[in-house]
Amino acid sequence: MPDSKNIFLFSEGNAGMRDLLGGKGANLAEMTRIGLPVPPGLTITTAACNYYSSTRRFPDRLMDDVRRALGEVERAMNKRFGDPARALLVSVRSGAAISMPGMMDTILNLGLNDKTVAGLAAATGDERFAYDCYRRLCTMFGNVVMHIEGARFEEALSAARERHRAASDVELPAGALRDLTSEFKALIAGESGRAFPEDPFEQLEMAIRAVFESWNNPRAMVYRRINRIPDDLGTAVNVQAMVFGNMGQGSATGVLFTRNPSTGARELYGEYLANAQGEDVVAGIRTPRPIAALQGEMPSIYAEIARTCKLLEDHYRDLQDIEFTVESGRLYILQTRAAKRTAAAAVKAAWDMAGEGLITREQALLRIEPDQVTSLLHRTIDPRARLDVFATGLPASPGAASGEVVFDADRAEALGQDGRRLILVRPETTPDDIHGILAAQGILTSRGGMTCHAAIVARHMGKPCVVGCEALRIDLQRREFRAGDRVFCEGDVISIDGATGRVIAGEVPVVDPEFSPEFSGILDWADAVRRLGVEANADTPQDAARAREFGAHGIGLCRTEHMFMAPDRLPVVRAMIMAETAAEREAALARLLPMQQGDFAGILEAMAGYPVTIRLLDPPLHEFLPDVEELSLAVERLRAAREHGAAIDEADLAAKEGLLRKARALAEFNPMLGLRGCRLGILFPEIYRMQARAIFHATAALRRRGVDARPEVMIPLVGIEGEIAATGAMVREEADRVSGETGIDVHCPIGTMIELPRACLVADQVARHAEFFSFGTNDLTQTTFGFSRDDAEAKFLGPYLEQHLLPENPFAVLDVDGVGQLIVMAVEKGRKARPDLRIGICGEHGGDPRSIEFCHRAGLDYVSCSPFRVPVARLAAARARVRELVQETAPRGE
Ligand code: ADP
Ligand code: MG
Ligand code: MG
Repeated sequence: MPDSKNIFLFSEGNAGMRDLLGGKGANLAEMTRIGLPVPPGLTITTAACNYYSSTRRFPDRLMDDVRRALGEVERAMNKRFGDPARALLVSVRSGAAISMPGMMDTILNLGLNDKTVAGLAAATGDERFAYDCYRRLCTMFGNVVMHIEGARFEEALSAARERHRAASDVELPAGALRDLTSEFKALIAGESGRAFPEDPFEQLEMAIRAVFESWNNPRAMVYRRINRIPDDLGTAVNVQAMVFGNMGQGSATGVLFTRNPSTGARELYGEYLANAQGEDVVAGIRTPRPIAALQGEMPSIYAEIARTCKLLEDHYRDLQDIEFTVESGRLYILQTRAAKRTAAAAVKAAWDMAGEGLITREQALLRIEPDQVTSLLHRTIDPRARLDVFATGLPASPGAASGEVVFDADRAEALGQDGRRLILVRPETTPDDIHGILAAQGILTSRGGMTCHAAIVARHMGKPCVVGCEALRIDLQRREFRAGDRVFCEGDVISIDGATGRVIAGEVPVVDPEFSPEFSGILDWADAVRRLGVEANADTPQDAARAREFGAHGIGLCRTEHMFMAPDRLPVVRAMIMAETAAEREAALARLLPMQQGDFAGILEAMAGYPVTIRLLDPPLHEFLPDVEELSLAVERLRAAREHGAAIDEADLAAKEGLLRKARALAEFNPMLGLRGCRLGILFPEIYRMQARAIFHATAALRRRGVDARPEVMIPLVGIEGEIAATGAMVREEADRVSGETGIDVHCPIGTMIELPRACLVADQVARHAEFFSFGTNDLTQTTFGFSRDDAEAKFLGPYLEQHLLPENPFAVLDVDGVGQLIVMAVEKGRKARPDLRIGICGEHGGDPRSIEFCHRAGLDYVSCSPFRVPVARLAAARARVRELVQETAPRGE
């Protein structure tokens, strides 16, 4: 990259240059541009980082360019890098285009060495301050650049605190900090075999290299994988003049949200520490003070901060997360970015901002991630429950969680894989704990404020989290913690309430959530713009009722096999399967009919006024029989007992032998591709006829009572025109018959599930007999890929994803390239044959936002998903429509 510009001064960039300057750099430039007090600096581009990543070399003359740009910073600050008399210190900060909080490494106070530190002490008249900066530089440099474990520095620091009887670092005198600095340097030299570099430019070059390299450190890679961030974005490097929050009591550093990131309430929300630098606030080392306290301590600074927040919100039209530092009574803004927020806060802030006229309703919808709102459907602790609350911390991320106490991330990950429910308990968390946080149901820390690492990550993941619970004394060695006189060991069950900060012994009873007025309002806006209908997959009246509460306009898939599995039904179902003649089968079916009729009546009534799509029996019949191996063992055992002269139940043996014969006869080499779906209806028409009669009788009875029952009958696994022709005709005949018997017209739409590639290819033929299509994308994905889902997920999908053979698990996110093409073809052919064909999707994909966006573009009429995903689907469907509108009106989308 010979000619491209690798470096931009903050005064040269703007917010639109995010890809090149990273989010942090672009926003530092933007804030500089609009006149906010940002310490001057320069940004090395992401392109330079990518060049480094692929060649392991800096672009040509990069350091010369850095020197030249740094000259501008020196002029603005009236200081010089490396000049003992008036030393300029800088920070080296990473920042990618997509924010990865806490994932990359930052180094402060660069430019200090034995000479400049003395100069700094003399110039400020504050030796303690100078050495405080120096020991911090040694720590960060030693850790980030020389790769010495942070704990080593931490140990030395706490030993020094003990020696000087200092409760916190702030109480360490200058001499102690000077000694620590030497100790750190010796540590660095001893551990790395290389002395701490005294030359400021060598420091700078090594630091820049380290930031480039941090792009590919393991925790950054894990974070990118979890958050689906591409690996080739690269990070920018910001070199910025230092300002000092650690210059005594008139100085401070803090972080701030322009609104409450947990609830969305309109209030300044944040924390600060007096006489502290950078990471002290987020590191959870000292517990910071709430921002409101600053109003009393530094009223004019507080007022300036409030003005700045308003300005930034008006400018960016979004909730901002800000870093600031006060140096001897002067405010500096060091970062702003769109704040990570809980789902509740996203909803409230979007609603409020639309009300304030900052954004439109459509923009408000785009501000809320559909996947995130599932946490609003999380349960909370039953308010009537009596709780054994033994401690209270800060309510960092709402929701209730119960689980076994676990003290480290590796163990949490291992136990989590066994399906155990866990609460990760730590003094504080770091980015290295990310896999443990992922595995746990909730997070509890004894230190840290609302903006510490654990809090930020948990909010982002929508996990309950309580931090800064200072009553806990955690002993990681013994794997226990104490709170007052109580002791909890690893494996003990506790609960946390992330909405109030309560920590509770044992499990807690939970209740279903209620929608906030803002959330209901946002969903109403969503309903007003979306074109896709949203229905639910529900097999029981309870599920149907919940689906309605969540706003489903119908049931897109009601499976009937679960009903067959119920303990009172199974013997009758087995009798039906065992029947040797049609007459015997009819007799068993006659007993099943009233049961099924009751099932259907319940669901149709719960969904009165909306369509209920009932799928006729789909799974292979052997699923209703006991396992062949178990059966043959039982038979063997009985026979052996008889041979040894024991008295056995002959009838039982005969029954088991019969079952075994039948189970063997029904066994298939590949049941997924065997006698199932409509093939059952063709071979055993009496089964489908019985189900149809049950549906129609239930309908007639309900309608007679004035209930608006609207069944639709769905035939599964059709791949051949004749299959739907024959089974559809049977169902229609039953409708004719029941209409005649009851005098109520019960004819209803009859359609099919499209779940085989052949059905897509001949969709026009199928549509001659089907009044609706519903894509069963689970089977369609299996049959298109030739994967059986269970085998694929258990055996090879993991490696496939790791090797990037597939971008996503196609069972979670619809495979647009392959399965998507079949869908598009089926839609086109189907509608050509029958213009008013109603088309939906009822696989799990119907609840996945990205798959929903595809369904919208493919012109489907509705999606159907599990009841809990219904609000997600309503929002996702609306966002798909809004994005389409944006594209229609402007050449470039959001
Ligand atoms: P992160 O992305 O982890 O937040 P940052 O680069 O933002 O890392 O910096 C870490 C901390 O150091 C922040 O608190 C930030 O405000 C502080 N900091 C960074 N640069 C400077 C500077 N030039 N002067 C004072 N503090 C700084
Ligand atoms: Mg930051
Ligand atoms: Mg299927």
